[in-house]
Amino acid sequence: MTILVTGGAGYIGSHTCVELLNNGYEIAVLDNLSNSSEEVLTRIREMTNKSFMFYKGDLLDKDFIKMVFQKNRIEAVIHFAGLKAVGESVQHPHLYYQNNIMGTLHLLEVMDQYEIRKIVFSSSATVYASSQPMPLSENSITKAINPYGRTKLMIEEMLADYYQANPKWSCVVLRYFNPIGAHQSGEIGEDPNGIPNNLMPYLTQVAIGKLNELKVFGNDYPTPDGTCIRDYIHVVDLAKGHIKALNKVQIESGYYTYNLGTGGGYSVLEVIQAFEKATGKKVPYSIGGRRQGDVPICYADTSTSKMELLWQATKSLEEMCKDAWNWQTQNPNGYKIIDHATLNSNN
Ligand code: NAD
Ligand code: UDP
Repeated sequence: MTILVTGGAGYIGSHTCVELLNNGYEIAVLDNLSNSSEEVLTRIREMTNKSFMFYKGDLLDKDFIKMVFQKNRIEAVIHFAGLKAVGESVQHPHLYYQNNIMGTLHLLEVMDQYEIRKIVFSSSATVYASSQPMPLSENSITKAINPYGRTKLMIEEMLADYYQANPKWSCVVLRYFNPIGAHQSGEIGEDPNGIPNNLMPYLTQVAIGKLNELKVFGNDYPTPDGTCIRDYIHVVDLAKGHIKALNKVQIESGYYTYNLGTGGGYSVLEVIQAFEKATGKKVPYSIGGRRQGDVPICYADTSTSKMELLWQATKSLEEMCKDAWNWQTQNPNGYKIIDHATLNSNN
Protein backbone atom coordinates (compact mmCIF):
# COMPACT_ATOMS: atom_id res chain seq x y z
CA MET A 1 0.00 0.00 0.00
CA THR A 2 1.21 3.43 -0.94
CA ILE A 3 0.95 6.89 0.59
CA LEU A 4 0.43 9.53 -2.06
CA VAL A 5 2.31 12.74 -1.24
CA THR A 6 1.08 15.72 -3.25
CA GLY A 7 3.66 18.52 -3.24
CA GLY A 8 6.25 15.99 -2.08
CA ALA A 9 9.08 17.81 -3.88
CA GLY A 10 8.47 20.98 -1.84
CA TYR A 11 10.10 22.14 1.39
CA ILE A 12 7.89 20.40 3.95
CA GLY A 13 6.84 17.60 1.61
CA SER A 14 10.43 16.52 0.94
CA HIS A 15 11.26 16.29 4.65
CA THR A 16 8.08 14.30 5.21
CA CYS A 17 8.98 11.91 2.37
CA VAL A 18 12.26 11.16 4.14
CA GLU A 19 10.46 10.42 7.41
CA LEU A 20 7.88 8.26 5.63
CA LEU A 21 10.53 6.21 3.81
CA ASN A 22 12.62 5.86 6.96
CA ASN A 23 9.53 4.58 8.76
CA GLY A 24 8.96 1.86 6.18
CA TYR A 25 6.14 3.45 4.17
CA GLU A 26 5.89 3.10 0.41
CA ILE A 27 5.24 6.44 -1.20
CA ALA A 28 4.39 8.03 -4.54
CA VAL A 29 5.04 11.72 -5.11
CA LEU A 30 2.83 13.95 -7.25
CA ASP A 31 4.16 17.43 -7.96
CA ASN A 32 4.09 19.86 -10.88
CA LEU A 33 7.50 21.29 -9.80
CA SER A 34 6.07 24.83 -10.02
CA ASN A 35 7.95 25.68 -6.83
CA SER A 36 10.47 22.88 -6.55
CA SER A 37 13.10 20.90 -8.38
CA GLU A 38 13.40 17.28 -9.44
CA GLU A 39 16.85 17.25 -7.83
CA VAL A 40 15.18 17.02 -4.42
CA LEU A 41 13.76 13.61 -5.37
CA THR A 42 17.22 12.29 -6.26
CA ARG A 43 18.46 13.50 -2.89
CA ILE A 44 15.58 11.84 -1.02
CA ARG A 45 16.36 8.54 -2.79
CA GLU A 46 20.06 8.86 -1.91
CA MET A 47 19.42 9.82 1.71
CA THR A 48 17.01 6.96 2.38
CA ASN A 49 18.37 4.39 -0.06
CA LYS A 50 14.76 3.75 -1.07
CA SER A 51 13.02 4.09 -4.40
CA PHE A 52 9.59 5.53 -5.17
CA MET A 53 7.56 6.72 -8.13
CA PHE A 54 7.41 10.38 -9.06
CA TYR A 55 4.51 11.70 -11.15
CA LYS A 56 5.18 15.12 -12.60
CA GLY A 57 1.85 16.79 -13.18
CA ASP A 58 -0.83 19.11 -11.94
CA LEU A 59 -3.74 18.70 -9.56
CA LEU A 60 -5.69 20.86 -11.96
CA ASP A 61 -5.55 17.93 -14.40
CA LYS A 62 -8.10 15.45 -13.08
CA ASP A 63 -7.24 12.74 -15.63
CA PHE A 64 -3.64 12.91 -14.48
CA ILE A 65 -4.69 12.38 -10.85
CA LYS A 66 -6.86 9.43 -11.93
CA MET A 67 -3.89 7.90 -13.76
CA VAL A 68 -1.84 8.10 -10.54
CA PHE A 69 -4.63 6.39 -8.59
CA GLN A 70 -4.97 3.71 -11.28
CA LYS A 71 -1.29 2.87 -11.22
CA ASN A 72 -0.87 2.67 -7.44
CA ARG A 73 -2.62 0.95 -4.54
CA ILE A 74 -3.05 4.19 -2.61
CA GLU A 75 -4.08 3.93 1.01
CA ALA A 76 -3.98 7.57 2.12
CA VAL A 77 -2.96 10.99 0.85
CA ILE A 78 -0.80 13.66 2.45
CA HIS A 79 -1.75 16.83 0.64
CA PHE A 80 0.94 19.53 0.63
CA ALA A 81 0.54 20.80 -2.94
CA GLY A 82 -0.51 24.40 -3.12
CA LEU A 83 0.68 27.95 -3.63
CA LYS A 84 1.79 29.64 -0.41
CA ALA A 85 2.95 33.24 -0.94
CA VAL A 86 0.66 35.63 0.93
CA GLY A 87 1.65 38.75 -1.06
CA GLU A 88 1.20 36.99 -4.38
CA SER A 89 -2.23 35.78 -3.25
CA VAL A 90 -3.30 39.38 -2.60
CA GLN A 91 -2.15 40.42 -6.09
CA HIS A 92 -3.41 37.33 -7.93
CA PRO A 93 -6.29 35.85 -5.93
CA HIS A 94 -7.51 33.93 -8.98
CA LEU A 95 -4.29 31.89 -9.05
CA TYR A 96 -4.77 30.90 -5.42
CA TYR A 97 -8.45 30.01 -5.63
CA GLN A 98 -7.85 28.09 -8.82
CA ASN A 99 -4.72 26.23 -7.76
CA ASN A 100 -5.46 25.57 -4.09
CA ILE A 101 -9.24 25.16 -4.15
CA MET A 102 -9.74 23.58 -7.59
CA GLY A 103 -6.67 21.38 -7.17
CA THR A 104 -7.98 20.09 -3.84
CA LEU A 105 -11.50 19.58 -5.23
CA HIS A 106 -10.12 17.45 -8.05
CA LEU A 107 -8.06 15.43 -5.60
CA LEU A 108 -11.03 14.84 -3.30
CA GLU A 109 -13.24 13.87 -6.22
CA VAL A 110 -10.77 11.27 -7.43
CA MET A 111 -10.20 10.01 -3.88
CA ASP A 112 -13.95 9.57 -3.45
CA GLN A 113 -14.20 7.78 -6.78
CA TYR A 114 -11.46 5.33 -5.76
CA GLU A 115 -12.88 5.08 -2.23
CA ILE A 116 -9.66 6.29 -0.67
CA ARG A 117 -10.93 8.61 2.02
CA LYS A 118 -7.94 9.20 4.29
CA ILE A 119 -6.25 12.57 4.01
CA VAL A 120 -3.78 14.70 5.96
CA PHE A 121 -3.94 18.33 4.91
CA SER A 122 -1.41 21.18 5.28
CA SER A 123 -3.16 24.14 6.83
CA SER A 124 -1.61 27.09 8.57
CA ALA A 125 -1.69 29.23 11.71
CA THR A 126 -2.63 32.04 9.34
CA VAL A 127 -6.26 30.83 9.62
CA TYR A 128 -6.46 32.24 13.17
CA ALA A 129 -7.98 35.65 13.70
CA SER A 130 -5.53 38.29 14.92
CA SER A 131 -5.79 39.94 18.35
CA GLN A 132 -6.88 37.04 20.48
CA PRO A 133 -5.37 35.50 23.60
CA MET A 134 -2.22 33.43 23.22
CA PRO A 135 -1.48 30.58 22.96
CA LEU A 136 -3.77 29.74 20.04
CA SER A 137 -5.70 26.53 20.54
CA GLU A 138 -7.51 24.66 17.80
CA ASN A 139 -10.71 26.23 19.16
CA SER A 140 -9.44 29.81 18.88
CA ILE A 141 -11.39 32.02 16.51
CA THR A 142 -10.52 31.65 12.84
CA LYS A 143 -10.59 34.47 10.31
CA ALA A 144 -8.25 34.64 7.38
CA ILE A 145 -7.20 38.08 6.18
CA ASN A 146 -5.81 37.31 2.72
CA PRO A 147 -6.69 35.01 -0.19
CA TYR A 148 -3.99 32.47 0.73
CA GLY A 149 -5.39 32.14 4.26
CA ARG A 150 -8.91 31.97 2.91
CA THR A 151 -8.01 29.03 0.65
CA LYS A 152 -6.70 27.20 3.74
CA LEU A 153 -9.82 27.93 5.73
CA MET A 154 -12.08 26.97 2.82
CA ILE A 155 -10.28 23.65 2.33
CA GLU A 156 -10.61 22.93 6.06
CA GLU A 157 -14.35 23.56 5.76
CA MET A 158 -14.58 21.47 2.60
CA LEU A 159 -12.98 18.52 4.41
CA ALA A 160 -15.37 18.93 7.34
CA ASP A 161 -18.28 18.87 4.85
CA TYR A 162 -16.96 15.74 3.15
CA TYR A 163 -16.82 13.99 6.51
CA GLN A 164 -20.28 15.27 7.38
CA ALA A 165 -21.63 13.83 4.13
CA ASN A 166 -19.85 10.51 4.45
CA PRO A 167 -18.48 9.39 7.84
CA LYS A 168 -16.07 7.01 6.13
CA TRP A 169 -13.80 10.01 5.51
CA SER A 170 -10.86 10.47 7.80
CA CYS A 171 -9.36 13.95 7.64
CA VAL A 172 -6.57 15.39 9.73
CA VAL A 173 -5.93 19.10 9.28
CA LEU A 174 -2.51 20.24 10.50
CA ARG A 175 -2.09 23.94 11.24
CA TYR A 176 1.61 24.68 10.94
CA PHE A 177 3.16 27.56 12.83
CA ASN A 178 6.57 28.76 11.49
CA PRO A 179 8.54 25.89 9.95
CA ILE A 180 12.26 26.64 9.58
CA GLY A 181 15.54 24.73 9.40
CA ALA A 182 16.49 21.80 7.23
CA HIS A 183 17.38 18.13 7.42
CA GLN A 184 20.50 17.80 9.54
CA SER A 185 22.37 16.12 6.66
CA GLY A 186 22.17 19.41 4.73
CA GLU A 187 20.91 17.43 1.70
CA ILE A 188 17.42 18.94 1.63
CA GLY A 189 16.13 22.30 2.81
CA GLU A 190 14.14 25.38 1.90
CA ASP A 191 14.88 26.72 -1.58
CA PRO A 192 12.77 29.82 -2.19
CA ASN A 193 12.55 31.39 -5.63
CA GLY A 194 14.15 34.85 -5.85
CA ILE A 195 14.46 37.04 -2.77
CA PRO A 196 12.98 35.24 0.23
CA ASN A 197 9.99 36.69 2.08
CA ASN A 198 10.41 34.63 5.23
CA LEU A 199 12.77 35.41 8.06
CA MET A 200 15.07 32.35 8.15
CA PRO A 201 15.90 32.00 4.44
CA TYR A 202 16.41 35.79 4.27
CA LEU A 203 18.70 35.65 7.31
CA THR A 204 20.82 32.77 5.97
CA GLN A 205 21.21 34.56 2.62
CA VAL A 206 22.43 37.66 4.48
CA ALA A 207 24.82 35.55 6.54
CA ILE A 208 26.31 33.97 3.41
CA GLY A 209 26.65 37.38 1.73
CA LYS A 210 24.04 37.03 -1.02
CA LEU A 211 21.96 39.81 0.54
CA ASN A 212 23.36 42.88 2.29
CA GLU A 213 21.40 43.10 5.50
CA LEU A 214 18.30 41.85 7.22
CA LYS A 215 15.56 44.38 7.76
CA VAL A 216 13.77 43.77 11.04
CA PHE A 217 10.14 44.63 10.39
CA GLY A 218 9.34 46.89 13.33
CA ASN A 219 10.64 47.18 16.92
CA ASP A 220 7.68 49.03 18.38
CA TYR A 221 5.41 46.05 19.03
CA PRO A 222 4.09 45.31 22.54
CA THR A 223 6.69 42.57 23.14
CA PRO A 224 9.71 42.57 25.51
CA ASP A 225 12.20 43.73 22.82
CA GLY A 226 9.63 45.35 20.53
CA THR A 227 9.98 42.81 17.69
CA CYS A 228 7.37 40.23 16.69
CA ILE A 229 7.21 36.83 18.35
CA ARG A 230 6.57 33.62 16.41
CA ASP A 231 6.45 29.91 17.14
CA TYR A 232 9.35 28.57 15.03
CA ILE A 233 9.34 24.83 14.55
CA HIS A 234 12.05 22.60 13.06
CA VAL A 235 10.86 21.20 9.72
CA VAL A 236 11.93 17.68 10.74
CA ASP A 237 9.76 17.88 13.88
CA LEU A 238 6.94 19.05 11.63
CA ALA A 239 7.54 16.16 9.21
CA LYS A 240 7.36 13.71 12.11
CA GLY A 241 3.98 15.19 13.04
CA HIS A 242 2.72 13.94 9.65
CA ILE A 243 3.64 10.35 10.51
CA LYS A 244 1.51 10.67 13.66
CA ALA A 245 -1.32 12.23 11.66
CA LEU A 246 -1.09 9.39 9.16
CA ASN A 247 -1.39 6.85 12.00
CA LYS A 248 -4.52 8.67 13.07
CA VAL A 249 -6.23 8.61 9.64
CA GLN A 250 -5.25 4.98 9.19
CA ILE A 251 -7.00 3.82 12.35
CA GLU A 252 -10.08 6.01 12.70
CA SER A 253 -12.46 8.03 10.63
CA GLY A 254 -13.43 11.57 11.64
CA TYR A 255 -12.40 15.17 11.13
CA TYR A 256 -9.61 16.44 13.36
CA THR A 257 -7.57 19.63 13.56
CA TYR A 258 -4.16 19.95 15.22
CA ASN A 259 -1.66 22.72 15.79
CA LEU A 260 1.92 21.85 14.90
CA GLY A 261 4.16 24.28 16.75
CA THR A 262 6.47 24.14 19.76
CA GLY A 263 4.17 25.92 22.16
CA GLY A 264 6.61 28.80 22.70
CA GLY A 265 7.80 31.82 20.80
CA TYR A 266 10.91 33.83 19.95
CA SER A 267 11.25 37.41 18.83
CA VAL A 268 13.02 38.38 15.60
CA LEU A 269 15.98 39.71 17.62
CA GLU A 270 16.15 36.46 19.62
CA VAL A 271 16.28 34.50 16.35
CA ILE A 272 19.15 36.65 15.10
CA GLN A 273 21.04 36.17 18.40
CA ALA A 274 20.39 32.40 18.40
CA PHE A 275 21.62 32.17 14.81
CA GLU A 276 24.81 34.09 15.60
CA LYS A 277 25.46 31.90 18.65
CA ALA A 278 24.74 28.63 16.80
CA THR A 279 26.84 29.42 13.74
CA GLY A 280 29.44 31.99 14.85
CA LYS A 281 28.30 34.13 11.89
CA LYS A 282 27.41 37.81 12.31
CA VAL A 283 24.14 38.92 10.77
CA PRO A 284 24.09 42.58 9.71
CA TYR A 285 20.64 43.98 10.34
CA SER A 286 18.77 47.24 10.69
CA ILE A 287 15.39 48.14 12.08
CA GLY A 288 12.75 48.98 9.50
CA GLY A 289 9.07 49.77 9.59
CA ARG A 290 6.33 47.28 10.35
CA ARG A 291 5.24 44.89 7.60
CA GLN A 292 1.55 45.12 6.84
CA GLY A 293 -0.50 42.25 8.22
CA ASP A 294 2.04 41.10 10.87
CA VAL A 295 0.55 40.32 14.29
CA PRO A 296 2.76 41.09 17.32
CA ILE A 297 2.67 37.61 18.88
CA CYS A 298 1.65 34.21 17.60
CA TYR A 299 2.31 30.84 19.22
CA ALA A 300 0.55 27.53 19.56
CA ASP A 301 -1.20 25.67 22.30
CA THR A 302 0.09 22.18 21.53
CA SER A 303 -1.70 20.26 24.28
CA THR A 304 -4.22 18.62 21.91
CA SER A 305 -1.60 17.40 19.44
CA LYS A 306 0.44 16.10 22.39
CA MET A 307 -2.53 14.25 23.84
CA GLU A 308 -4.26 12.98 20.70
CA LEU A 309 -1.45 12.67 18.16
CA LEU A 310 1.17 11.73 20.75
CA TRP A 311 3.46 14.20 19.05
CA GLN A 312 5.68 16.92 20.41
CA ALA A 313 8.40 19.09 18.88
CA THR A 314 11.84 18.31 20.31
CA LYS A 315 14.37 20.44 18.46
CA SER A 316 15.67 23.73 19.85
CA LEU A 317 15.92 27.09 18.12
CA GLU A 318 19.70 26.60 18.08
CA GLU A 319 19.30 23.34 16.12
CA MET A 320 16.89 25.05 13.70
CA CYS A 321 19.49 27.77 13.07
CA LYS A 322 22.41 25.35 12.79
CA ASP A 323 20.57 23.12 10.31
CA ALA A 324 19.32 26.08 8.24
CA TRP A 325 22.91 27.33 8.02
CA ASN A 326 24.31 23.89 7.20
CA TRP A 327 21.82 23.63 4.29
CA GLN A 328 22.64 27.17 3.10
CA THR A 329 26.42 26.65 3.14
CA GLN A 330 26.26 23.22 1.49
CA ASN A 331 23.84 24.49 -1.16
CA PRO A 332 24.53 28.20 -1.73
CA ASN A 333 22.33 28.05 -4.85
CA GLY A 334 19.71 25.73 -3.43
CA TYR A 335 18.94 22.84 -5.76
CA LYS A 336 20.18 24.73 -8.82
CA ILE A 337 23.16 22.98 -10.28
CA ILE A 338 25.62 25.58 -11.50
CA ASP A 339 27.52 24.45 -14.55
CA HIS A 340 30.93 26.05 -13.89
CA ALA A 341 32.31 25.02 -17.29
CA THR A 342 29.51 26.93 -19.06
CA LEU A 343 29.86 29.85 -16.67
CA ASN A 344 33.62 30.11 -17.34
CA SER A 345 33.21 29.84 -21.11
CA ASN A 346 30.67 32.67 -21.00
CA ASN A 347 33.02 34.96 -19.06
P1 NAD B 1 6.46 24.41 -1.30
O1 NAD B 1 6.06 25.44 -2.28
O2 NAD B 1 7.89 24.19 -1.03
O3 NAD B 1 5.80 23.01 -1.68
C1 NAD B 1 4.56 22.91 -2.33
C2 NAD B 1 4.75 21.96 -3.52
O4 NAD B 1 3.50 21.84 -4.21
C3 NAD B 1 5.76 22.48 -4.55
O5 NAD B 1 6.72 21.47 -4.79
C4 NAD B 1 4.92 22.80 -5.79
O6 NAD B 1 5.65 22.56 -6.96
C5 NAD B 1 3.74 21.87 -5.60
N1 NAD B 1 2.49 22.33 -6.23
C6 NAD B 1 1.87 23.52 -6.11
N2 NAD B 1 0.74 23.54 -6.79
C7 NAD B 1 0.59 22.33 -7.38
C8 NAD B 1 -0.37 21.73 -8.23
N3 NAD B 1 -1.45 22.42 -8.64
N4 NAD B 1 -0.19 20.47 -8.64
C9 NAD B 1 0.91 19.77 -8.26
N5 NAD B 1 1.86 20.27 -7.46
C10 NAD B 1 1.71 21.54 -7.02
O7 NAD B 1 5.70 24.74 0.08
P2 NAD B 1 5.93 24.18 1.54
O8 NAD B 1 6.56 25.24 2.35
O9 NAD B 1 6.55 22.84 1.48
O10 NAD B 1 4.42 24.07 2.01
C11 NAD B 1 3.68 22.88 1.85
C12 NAD B 1 2.25 23.14 2.27
O11 NAD B 1 2.23 23.63 3.61
C13 NAD B 1 1.56 24.21 1.42
O12 NAD B 1 0.21 23.81 1.23
C14 NAD B 1 1.63 25.44 2.28
O13 NAD B 1 0.57 26.33 2.04
C15 NAD B 1 1.54 24.85 3.68
N6 NAD B 1 2.15 25.70 4.71
C16 NAD B 1 3.46 26.08 4.59
C17 NAD B 1 4.04 26.88 5.57
C18 NAD B 1 5.48 27.35 5.46
O14 NAD B 1 5.88 28.25 6.21
N7 NAD B 1 6.30 26.78 4.59
C19 NAD B 1 3.28 27.30 6.68
C20 NAD B 1 1.96 26.88 6.78
C21 NAD B 1 1.41 26.07 5.79
N1 UDP C 1 10.61 39.32 9.46
C1 UDP C 1 11.53 40.35 9.48
N2 UDP C 1 12.31 40.56 8.37
C2 UDP C 1 12.20 39.80 7.25
C3 UDP C 1 11.27 38.73 7.25
C4 UDP C 1 10.48 38.54 8.37
O1 UDP C 1 11.65 41.06 10.48
O2 UDP C 1 12.91 40.04 6.27
C5 UDP C 1 9.78 39.08 10.65
C6 UDP C 1 8.30 39.22 10.39
O3 UDP C 1 7.88 40.54 10.61
C7 UDP C 1 7.70 38.24 11.40
C8 UDP C 1 8.78 37.18 11.57
O4 UDP C 1 9.98 37.74 11.04
O5 UDP C 1 7.54 38.88 12.63
C9 UDP C 1 8.46 35.90 10.81
O6 UDP C 1 8.14 36.24 9.48
P1 UDP C 1 7.95 35.16 8.36
O7 UDP C 1 7.64 35.90 7.09
O8 UDP C 1 9.08 34.23 8.35
O9 UDP C 1 6.68 34.33 8.86
P2 UDP C 1 5.17 34.78 9.18
O10 UDP C 1 5.03 34.66 10.66
O11 UDP C 1 4.96 36.15 8.67
O12 UDP C 1 4.38 33.75 8.47
